[in-house]
Amino acid sequence: MLELRPTCENCNQALPPDSLEARICSYECTFCAPCVEAVLQNVCPNCGGGFVPRPIRPSKNRKGDNYLGKDPASTKVRHRPVDPAAHARFAAALKDIPPQER
Ligand SMILES: [Zn+2]
Ligand SMILES: [Zn+2]
Repeated sequence: MLELRPTCENCNQALPPDSLEARICSYECTFCAPCVEAVLQNVCPNCGGGFVPRPIRPSKNRKGDNYLGKDPASTKVRHRPVDPAAHARFAAALKDIPPQER
């Protein structure tokens, strides 16, 4: 199950479970959309993979107790700001490699 981490790892902006700005990589590294676009260039600084919008977990119990009330978002902040220059080099080294081959 997704942890639904509470903030952007880079800028620490709050990303509540209903945020439309949250982006995750396949390892759930979590960033805000502005950081993914402007700083990360859609390259995860931790694994080199790309990002997708994080799905919103329902806030109401529509079916089978599958909702935030039973499975709340994580409160564990992971604030690990990237070094923009180092990340730019990392992203540049990957940019010509298709995601399937990274
Ligand atoms: Zn951010
Ligand atoms: Zn990652």
